Amino acid sequence: MTQNSYIGRFAPSPSGPLHFGSLVAAVASYLQARSNQGKWLVRIEDIDPPRESKGAADSILRTLENFHLCWDDNVIYQSEHMDRYQQCLHQLYQQQQTYFCTCSRKAIKKVSPFYQGHCRHQRKQPSKDFSIRFYNPEPLTQFYDEHAGKLLFPLESFEHDFILKRKDGLFAYQLAVVVDDMDEAITEVVRGADLLDSTPRQIQLFQSFARTAPRYLHLPLVLGKDGDKLSKLTHAEPVDNAPANQQLFKALQFLQQSPPATLQKAPVNELLQWALSHWQPGLIPSIKSYR
Ligand SMILES: [Zn+2]
Repeated sequence: MTQNSYIGRFAPSPSGPLHFGSLVAAVASYLQARSNQGKWLVRIEDIDPPRESKGAADSILRTLENFHLCWDDNVIYQSEHMDRYQQCLHQLYQQQQTYFCTCSRKAIKKVSPFYQGHCRHQRKQPSKDFSIRFYNPEPLTQFYDEHAGKLLFPLESFEHDFILKRKDGLFAYQLAVVVDDMDEAITEVVRGADLLDSTPRQIQLFQSFARTAPRYLHLPLVLGKDGDKLSKLTHAEPVDNAPANQQLFKALQFLQQSPPATLQKAPVNELLQWALSHWQPGLIPSIKSYR
């Protein structure tokens, strides 16, 4: 494999069994990687124990196997990378790109919907509880999505100095995901549009580590009956509750790949094979409406 080869990934957090929204992300990222003759990696994002449920990681992996979504290399667990996250955080500290924040969520909300940089100059470790924030005087306000094109993020619409390490000592998603995407040399991230707002921050972290960010392709969100985003936290139904071939057929329909009706009852591997040889990311519905 050459250095420029495609490496994609699916990175679920183990907060419950795989639901339809995550299946769509898994299928799309898999098809995109395989149709580019690339690798497809699976990473379990288990760095937030209070939100995780026991056995969920194994259940997700078993479900992926049921769907014949076979990953390359070993499954990666973020919980095994704490030292590496700390090392990268320290690098940002040495580059003077972090500071200590002692603000409470309540105090921040009192002033404005977003944290306004109150502790920006706190470079010495305080004696009371603190989070560590990214010092970000020039926030990125746009990026290019592989499907939707240029997306804009007005300065007033997000928190500039985002958290890298939380008050409770846990590493923030933004830092962990960038370190792993960097270390695994991911070339393209295919994921749900619920993470759109995270993308400019993640690109900035890549820049801070003097690395090129991967390409990003965001997928439309699967919405529940009430219009809410499906998630494990809203008790979306696990995909295991229905036959895998039916769910895969539905996922392909959601991605507007128009699987032929004759394949509706085909076994999973046959359907997946069809999807791979007919994969057209350009047909995926637009995410423009999320911004
Ligand atoms: Zn603060």
